[in-house]
Amino acid sequence: MVAHPDDMEFGAAAAIARWTGQGKHIVYCMVTSGEAGIDALPPDQCRIVREGEQIESARLVGVEAVEFLGLPDGVLEYGVDLRRAITAAVRAHRPDIVITNNFRATWGGRNLNQADHIAVGQATLDAVRDAGNRWVFAEQLVDGVEPWGGVREGWAAGSPDAAHGVDTSDSFDRGVASLEAHSAYIDGLGWDDFDPEEFLQSIARPTGGRLGAKYGAAFEVFPMGWGS
Ligand SMILES: [Zn+2]
Repeated sequence: MVAHPDDMEFGAAAAIARWTGQGKHIVYCMVTSGEAGIDALPPDQCRIVREGEQIESARLVGVEAVEFLGLPDGVLEYGVDLRRAITAAVRAHRPDIVITNNFRATWGGRNLNQADHIAVGQATLDAVRDAGNRWVFAEQLVDGVEPWGGVREGWAAGSPDAAHGVDTSDSFDRGVASLEAHSAYIDGLGWDDFDPEEFLQSIARPTGGRLGAKYGAAFEVFPMGWGS
């Protein structure tokens, strides 16, 4: 559950590839379609491009289901409306683990995080609890939808407070391919000489080093079960 197409690919997708390779079932939910992400492309056209890139990017790491919640890119607000939308997705998919993006104020040091990421990460952990309470967003509990309190942990990818690492040495290349799939977005950033492989290596090497592996992905893990 992340704010934008590309959020998983800037560091976490190699871990996803490892897990799908182990047979784990993973669904991607994008709160927005990243339609405000390309300066030269109006949102109605950008939405189509970015949804297509995300679907291909997900396929490259073994994720066949990508859901777009359709909230507005760039202006997400933490609050009840965001929690409601995420709760509906949690109740629909009934996951054991929910992964989101870093929602701390920075990426470490002074590199500021982005407002949508902060709103979505916090709302996701709250929505995991909302999903288990039948009296919260009770209007969703129709047509066979039931509360879901089975999420054991929430994982925030790339958090500066991460204390858990996943060895991604064997799936690193698939993570690179999944970031390269966002070619229209990357071109639109206008970053001269941006190389997805080099960029991901620069993140994955230090984490891998701490694991005694070549590459790794870092997560801040929150236990979500009541009473645990
Ligand atoms: Zn993002």
